[in-house]
Amino acid sequence: MANNSQPSGERGTKAKPIYEVSANSHVAVLDDKIDSTNAQVAKLVNLMTTKMEVKACGLCSLEDHPTYMCPILYEDEVK
Ligand SMILES: [Zn+2]
Repeated sequence: MANNSQPSGERGTKAKPIYEVSANSHVAVLDDKIDSTNAQVAKLVNLMTTKMEVKACGLCSLEDHPTYMCPILYEDEVK
């Protein structure tokens, strides 16, 4: 549709560009918001993934503590 050269004498040519411009600026603002939101979500996911990797215990494979905080280690030390 937009690829065809538009005849300048058609009805509605005056109203159409105005609508398109306002719609485009609206989309641009939305794009900006989505962009920053996506970046924040990506950061969060990255943080969560990193934390999970750090938290995963290598001794008893429980995920609620890192390896150096494993109860098994402290049991050994106490006994
Ligand atoms: Zn553990």
